[in-house]
Amino acid sequence: MSKHKSGGRAAESPSPPEMVCTLVVDAVIDEIEVEICCQRTDGVDRVFSTSRGMDWLRTERPSVSTLTYSIDTLLFSMIAMCLRYVGYPVDVRAGLLSKKHVEAIINSVCFELEEIKKENEVWREAEIVIKAAHLGLALEASNFRRGTWVACCPGTNHTLDLQPKRNLFYCGYCRVGGGIDKLDEFVAQRRRSKAAAFIGGRILH
Ligand SMILES: [Zn+2]
Repeated sequence: MSKHKSGGRAAESPSPPEMVCTLVVDAVIDEIEVEICCQRTDGVDRVFSTSRGMDWLRTERPSVSTLTYSIDTLLFSMIAMCLRYVGYPVDVRAGLLSKKHVEAIINSVCFELEEIKKENEVWREAEIVIKAAHLGLALEASNFRRGTWVACCPGTNHTLDLQPKRNLFYCGYCRVGGGIDKLDEFVAQRRRSKAAAFIGGRILH
């Protein structure tokens, strides 16, 4: 069948979603299957997960070339997000893309993340990084964002971002951030309230 090119109303017949691949991800507690589909609609190419509770795992870009071309680029971001928030893919089931193809993308994502981490290691001597280490926060160079170190927000399991270039920190959950002195104050305050809660608990029992 020849494609009808009207030039103006291509939006009326979107392509149906197609299965790109399924990733079997080691999510610490259990292995989970992350089904990934793609679809071209209204001049936008989308790659998204259809697995339960995974609707946040999606990315898109304008349709500039073929859908297959977009999938390669979009799958790269999807796998990076999957590694960051879900876990490491330990197996792949083929769909539109072969197992080998998807594994090659996973490898290039891992390589890129290693490179980012190496670049960030350069900031090991930055004041805010040294301060966080002195305060006893478990910290490391981020392998997801350039110019960022990550620590554990005290008393929680949040990620505290450190920006060594500007000597700033920020926790997106607590919505607390600032410079070196503020970090000092924030950690001390957290430890005081933790100690108070502990003493309170002891008295109650
Ligand atoms: Zn926090």
